[in-house]
Amino acid sequence: MVTTTKRNGSTWYACEGCGMLFGERQDAADHEQACDGEDPDYLQ
Ligand SMILES: [Zn+2]
Repeated sequence: MVTTTKRNGSTWYACEGCGMLFGERQDAADHEQACDGEDPDYLQ
């Protein structure tokens, strides 16, 4: 799931699978759908 983190007064959204940060929650959610750290159905 997407996690939130505060940095320099701004909220960032992090992929729990790989730790990548996004400025928009939807961007992080979209990434997680394709991130092989989180999705077991992703094609290898
Ligand atoms: Zn990821």
